[in-house]
Amino acid sequence: METTALVTTGHFIGGKQLAFDGEEIIEVFSPLDGSLLSTVPTGSDKAIDHTVTMAKKAFLTWSTVPVKERVQVLFRFKGLLEKNINELSELIHKENGKTIAEGRAEIEKGIEVLEFASSLPQILGQEKLEVSSGVDCEYKRYPLGVVLSITPFNFPAMVPMWTIPIAIGCGNTLILKPSEQVPLSTVRIGELFSESGLPDGVYNVLHGRRETTESLIDHPGIEAISFVGSSKVAKSVYIRAASLGKRALALGGAKNHLVVVPDADVDITAKNVVASAMGCAGQRCMAASVLILVGDTGNILDKIVAEAQNIKAGKDMGAIISSAAKNRIEGYISRAEQMGHRILVDGRNVRVAGKENGWYVGPTIIEGVTPSDECACDEIFGPVLSIIWVSTLEEALAIENNNPYGNAASIYTSSGAVARYFSDHASAGMVGVNIGVPVPREPFSFGGWNQSRFGSGDITGMDGVRFWTKLKKITTKWSASAAKNWMS
Ligand code: NAD
Repeated sequence: METTALVTTGHFIGGKQLAFDGEEIIEVFSPLDGSLLSTVPTGSDKAIDHTVTMAKKAFLTWSTVPVKERVQVLFRFKGLLEKNINELSELIHKENGKTIAEGRAEIEKGIEVLEFASSLPQILGQEKLEVSSGVDCEYKRYPLGVVLSITPFNFPAMVPMWTIPIAIGCGNTLILKPSEQVPLSTVRIGELFSESGLPDGVYNVLHGRRETTESLIDHPGIEAISFVGSSKVAKSVYIRAASLGKRALALGGAKNHLVVVPDADVDITAKNVVASAMGCAGQRCMAASVLILVGDTGNILDKIVAEAQNIKAGKDMGAIISSAAKNRIEGYISRAEQMGHRILVDGRNVRVAGKENGWYVGPTIIEGVTPSDECACDEIFGPVLSIIWVSTLEEALAIENNNPYGNAASIYTSSGAVARYFSDHASAGMVGVNIGVPVPREPFSFGGWNQSRFGSGDITGMDGVRFWTKLKKITTKWSASAAKNWMS
């Protein structure tokens, strides 16, 4: 294990890295080779109080800065992200294990949210109407105060960027609690924000695990909480925050179904299905997890298998976040095999030359699965695709509709009517037609249904603006002659 170049990384509070006496240390390992990358402190009560105090102080000024000026910082930050994209992609690659290209893509997607937030003056400037002669009504949005964003391991930069630009663009000050498994990119983001001219205390990072997160949620200085992570934790965070009367939105896990009908284009479908299931080593809340083949689609499955066999872990595909996660994923494959399912592509026991201590699972395809099998029901969160055969589109939709999650669902077809029917009847917040990772691009918002989301609204787009602001309705009359009835 490499420890020679070890750099410790503090919380990022009030524009600088800090740690507090007595804080427990969390070690951050690289999934690529198991090496120790850094250590971070676990946010103590003292650290939490200090961070909230700094963020509250910053709020007094930041909330009064006109939005047209606030977004100037976002413009400068965008320039710095673009300038430093190689370095950040490398950091994401190291701490998360995904490929450098995938790290780059997540920054680019984060930049789209930043662009959306940069248009806040245009969005907020359109909310006034003369409601009767001489009487105007306008919406005015006010920031909430100090807000909290809790993020998962699988997108160290993109998921934080779903919340940071909109929340601070709307005038809030924010505390980010990143996953303890990938805490480094968010601190680097803080440094780039400081370089962009963001006042100290507007964006802060506090490290820690469950206890720190819960103390932050409970802290009376925190006004609103957004969470992204697994469904079990999402639900508990949502209930905890809501029971304190706090505004909360918690996005959870997923089990996404792709449906292929016989008229689908063979090559496009095969490539796209495999990219959806195996990209980011399957550690995506939008990853394909169950493939439902309708009728005579054996030729498409053959092509999917061939495509998956071409992907090499450690080269085209990144690593799994931890050895525990690798063991969990391999356990699902082994139990499916013991049940008699056919493992068409087997990603167990992968060895990557020169990275023997890394955590890798190769592409895996399991055939003969029934809808009630654990590999068809549980979120495996690895590069594992379970295949279910059915005879009709109705059967496929029934399976998709019965799964408790509801992030994404996709259909592959060349028929507009089939596509339309599927998108109307799938029980998911994000639907794809001939596209297996149907992430809505800005200005369309991101969010699932069912057990994939607790709370209302999506996390990005206009719903993000609504979540991070409180709305005042102001009705104005300057002329007595405008009076017509009791409403004017
Ligand atoms: P996780 O739920 O284990 O952790 C998420 C965050 O919550 C981390 O910051 C963690 O420190 C904190 N946390 C963990 N346990 C907690 C508890 N009991 N109380 C309070 N906080 C706690 O998720 P993960 O393993 O980091 O990420 C993978 C999960 O995230 C998958 O289920 C994936 O589908 C989901 N995810 C969902 C979306 C979405 O948009 N719906 C996006 C990305 C990831």
